[in-house]
Amino acid sequence: MLEYCLNCDYENALELKREPVIITVRGEAIETIEEFYHCPACGEKFTSSLGHDALEEAYREYRSRHHLVQPEEIRHWREDYGLTLTELSLMLEWNEATLNRFEQGALQDASDDKWLKFIMVPQNLLYLIISKPETLRREKREQLITQLSTNRKVVEALQQFYSLLLENFSDFSKLRSNAIQLRANT
Ligand SMILES: [Zn+2]
Repeated sequence: MLEYCLNCDYENALELKREPVIITVRGEAIETIEEFYHCPACGEKFTSSLGHDALEEAYREYRSRHHLVQPEEIRHWREDYGLTLTELSLMLEWNEATLNRFEQGALQDASDDKWLKFIMVPQNLLYLIISKPETLRREKREQLITQLSTNRKVVEALQQFYSLLLENFSDFSKLRSNAIQLRANT
């Protein structure tokens, strides 16, 4: 579809151009590609409506540099568990619009990202589902608890956790018996 220049009263067809541009994201210079329409007659630039968004690309690059979760990772992960925006935002204690913005490409800050990564670990999600029963319908809650508690990663993590407890518990009981012996010897 041809686009025409607003300045030249629609006489000139615009050219679609892509040029490198530097965008500063949180003080960091990120090179990305800007897509725009250019009028060969008057030189005016118009925003492209084709969907390539330089800011979005810059955010994506910033996230990958800083190991932040990408928007589609959040959405895919949420959908894999069949959680709605409302349910997940209740669990995160965020308002739904905030979660939706992150899924749509808004740049999260480091603390929001930590919280997201925390809940994306299956045993943490299980913990949240158990500790916040009001956030899900009963059947969905039960189904997710079953699904998560048989998840291999969760089982392994819980096994590690319990062996850690046991180890420390036996140390603790050894310490206690030593202390009793000491007391008996004095
Ligand atoms: Zn023009």
